Amino acid sequence: MRKKERAEKIHRILAKLYPAPAIPLHHRDNYTLLIAVVLSAQCTDARVNLITPKLFAKASSPQEMVQLSISEIEAIIRPCGLAPRKARAIWTLSRLLIEKHQGEVPNAFEALEELPGVGHKTASVVMAQGFNVAAFPVDTHIHRCAQRWGLSSGKSVKQTEIDLKRLFPKKDWIKLHLQIIYFAREFCPSRRHDAANCPICSWACGVM
Ligand code: SF4
Repeated sequence: MRKKERAEKIHRILAKLYPAPAIPLHHRDNYTLLIAVVLSAQCTDARVNLITPKLFAKASSPQEMVQLSISEIEAIIRPCGLAPRKARAIWTLSRLLIEKHQGEVPNAFEALEELPGVGHKTASVVMAQGFNVAAFPVDTHIHRCAQRWGLSSGKSVKQTEIDLKRLFPKKDWIKLHLQIIYFAREFCPSRRHDAANCPICSWACGVM
């Protein structure tokens, strides 16, 4: 089966499995989404969702966040890991939003990626989930599935993003990145997989 046909078949299966995939990180607006995504680096979404209510009860806007000290932020977010680095990034990016963007989250990749703690994947999540702009954030789950499904042989998430954007219709990128994440978590973890019960099985996977 050609790569494009495989992609279309996988797309149909994912659409059936996850017709309306919810945004996994709880948030109130684009600022709280940005903070949640920064916290999710090397941390599960479930853990971030346990921590953000405590953080947002104290500060849910850039103006409120800079009233906290970095060590106060660090104490709240410690269970998310990398707390010193993330706390500094959250405080500094909040100050930059006030100084450079009137306290608003900018609706542009370049401006987002200039903020501390915000790489291309984080910016893509905010653009897609916050601003509904076509983007295809590739995390380790999506990277792994794309490799296993033979849709990309890219060594980096950057190349995987390019390959997936070529294969799938732009209008579906936002939904698809969530559908693949949900699929990876449910069926296709990094260490083990149950091929017998997998809806995207030997016909697609190089590992079979
Ligand atoms: S067969 Fe295994 S590797 Fe392939 S999609 Fe299913 S769980 Fe993932």
